[in-house]
Amino acid sequence: MSVSTVLFGTAPNGKNVDKIMLENKNGMKASIVTFGATLLELFCPDKNGELADILVGLDSMEGFLNYWDYQGAVVAPVANRIGNGGFTLDGKFYKLNSNKAGDVTLHSCGEMTYAVWDYETVGENGVKLSLSHADGTNGFPGNIDITVTYTLEDDNKLHIAYTAISDKKTIINPTNHAYFNLAGFDGTAEEMLSHLLQLNCSRFVPVDKFSVPTGEIMNVEGTPFDFRSPKEIGMEINTENEQLKNTSGYDHNFCVDNWDKTLRTAAVAYLPSTGRCLEVITDLPGVQFYAGNFLKGLPGKENKPMSYRCGFCLETQYYPDTINHPNFPQNVLEANTPFETETILALSIK
Ligand code: BGC
Repeated sequence: MSVSTVLFGTAPNGKNVDKIMLENKNGMKASIVTFGATLLELFCPDKNGELADILVGLDSMEGFLNYWDYQGAVVAPVANRIGNGGFTLDGKFYKLNSNKAGDVTLHSCGEMTYAVWDYETVGENGVKLSLSHADGTNGFPGNIDITVTYTLEDDNKLHIAYTAISDKKTIINPTNHAYFNLAGFDGTAEEMLSHLLQLNCSRFVPVDKFSVPTGEIMNVEGTPFDFRSPKEIGMEINTENEQLKNTSGYDHNFCVDNWDKTLRTAAVAYLPSTGRCLEVITDLPGVQFYAGNFLKGLPGKENKPMSYRCGFCLETQYYPDTINHPNFPQNVLEANTPFETETILALSIK
């Protein structure tokens, strides 16, 4: 096991951006950059022992500043969409800045993503990054201190553990926004659509044309959203379906079955041609399955295009817009009360 650090680049505010590399005894490697606390690379062997980086994304500061759509980033304090222009807590309406049509706030306007996080290495296999989200930023209450710790274990599991604490009552929902392709970062859309995906989710959250939840929770049975048994991502992605039309392909929160705040497997993705298998284990109630519908060929790693649907995301989280839907699991964070959550990316070969 080892941890090493190099300079990755310079942020627009002049701060150095470091890249921290973690390696385990099997040669599996993960790298993290301090800009956005981003998971940059995840090198895993295939069934022939060939290592490839399974994260679609960017590999330079220039890329981050010009072509980024959250690839690998930590999104915080609240991932995904909030509708209604904001939310009400204890009778007070908090108006949020919006960055999407329909007075929608996506990914907290990217505040913590486009920022350099402080960090310290942890033991021989981890790095802990930290950043504060100042009271009132984009309308969110509370000075919210967030940490995210990446730990690469010898059993080929990458743990992503978050903590948060706020000096005022607020809402919290951090996630990691990695885009995967188990063929490798330069994998094609064809390979992306050939992944067998299993989501241990019998229900999902329908959305309106602004991708904001309608408030319903729908059974997946008999719909293209039924991934309870492994199914190719591409199998039904283009079928006539109002929900798929609203979001131009899968871009929905699935509700993790039997959620009880303990770790459980929410999703498994497997690409038979490589034998690589990714299991997503989380203590969170939802997973946003996004099929890269808005990727449009912008330059990615090694200047290769991130083509339409060449990567997919499995973002573990509370349901989107949850604060505006009392029937969803709630993500209110009381003042001075620690919040913790963990997601594990477990890699194996089949
Ligand atoms: C959202 C997508 C969005 C993507 C990148 C995902 O979490 O669900 O709609 O395009 O993030 O911003």
